[in-house]
Amino acid sequence: MGSIMGKKQQPRRKHIPQRTCVICREKKDKRNLTRIVKTLDDGIQIDPTGKMNGRGAYLCDNVECWQKAASTDRLAQALRTAISQIDRERIEAAMPH
Ligand SMILES: [Zn+2]
Repeated sequence: MGSIMGKKQQPRRKHIPQRTCVICREKKDKRNLTRIVKTLDDGIQIDPTGKMNGRGAYLCDNVECWQKAASTDRLAQALRTAISQIDRERIEAAMPH
């Protein structure tokens, strides 16, 4: 009982791509970031697969970054677009908590 003290198996060999959050500019593992894409037809979309076409920007899993993304121009500038009310609601709905 309790002889294994927190020795989790952590494969270290695997290369995890790094991306920069557009709000806090911190580099993190890609899996801790969410890709936001400006699509041609449908405004800003959350792209959990990272494979959607369009100009993309990454947001980290810090809720403050998502709030800033929804309330400031930083994400809009990164995506070279304007964020509409619908886009804002979409971002807020996808916000981590
Ligand atoms: Zn961030």
